[in-house]
Amino acid sequence: MPPVTALDPRVASVIDWFAREARDLPWRRDDCSAWGVLVSEVMLQQTPVARVEPVWREWMARWPTPADLARASQADAVRAWGRLGYPRRAKRLWECAVTLVERHGGDVPRTEDALLALPGIGAYTAAAIRAFAYGERDVVLDTNVRRVIGRAWRSQPLPPAHLTRSERSHAESLVPADAVASVAWNAGAMELGALVCTARSPRCADCVIASDCAWLAAGSPGLEAAPRRTQAWHGTDRQVRGRIMALLRASHAPLNITGQASLEDIEPGQLDSCLASLVSDGLVTVADEERGLYSL
Ligand code: SF4
Repeated sequence: MPPVTALDPRVASVIDWFAREARDLPWRRDDCSAWGVLVSEVMLQQTPVARVEPVWREWMARWPTPADLARASQADAVRAWGRLGYPRRAKRLWECAVTLVERHGGDVPRTEDALLALPGIGAYTAAAIRAFAYGERDVVLDTNVRRVIGRAWRSQPLPPAHLTRSERSHAESLVPADAVASVAWNAGAMELGALVCTARSPRCADCVIASDCAWLAAGSPGLEAAPRRTQAWHGTDRQVRGRIMALLRASHAPLNITGQASLEDIEPGQLDSCLASLVSDGLVTVADEERGLYSL
């Protein structure tokens, strides 16, 4: 990634704002391990901070190192995931811990290639671990950062559904050359997007870069017309899968899922297909096929 020569004033303002306003989150503290950062990034991928923080604390108290988690069972990890949603992440995190022990002596590696080779770690998470655990200069592009850059620089109400090449190279050009400043920019832009420049109700009056925001200057066009990407929840396969997982998490003995009174409102075909998908994802085990018993 080529270093930039001058710091964009909006970048400098976001860095200053973050130094004043950053939330005190446990995975941002100096004493947080690289493993703690990795766990936080996986949990935060699809779940808000407020729901992640208590689970992260419990998780780190129970499994403070990859070796601790690797010694536990996959079912323990899925159970401890609680209601964070998308439980495949718990399975991948457990697999990641096992791989860290097998290939890296229980440490979290620092290079992009080594991180990308771990289960459950994609380009975003690898960059976030390098930046926030190791202080490396990298481009950390989550949906919050993309929205801030899209609005303030590119006058877009919302970024495109998928990251484009031009968006990425523009984001790279904004990253300060200095590693410490680059980390503060990455974290600050993420925080600004999460707290101020939110998807549907940006608080431009409170925004530190409002005077230089291209989208605000253009009159904030197009947000009402932009497609919503949120899915309806009630009755979806995701909800049904979540209900099945909640029952299995709470039970330490195998359960007959299709015979549960609390799931009677679910259409049998949907219940069967959701159960089958959990089994094929490796999250649920068939304990006794003949009797229809399942467990984590
Ligand atoms: S001024 Fe408004 S739209 Fe522009 S970056 Fe700030 S919050 Fe986002």
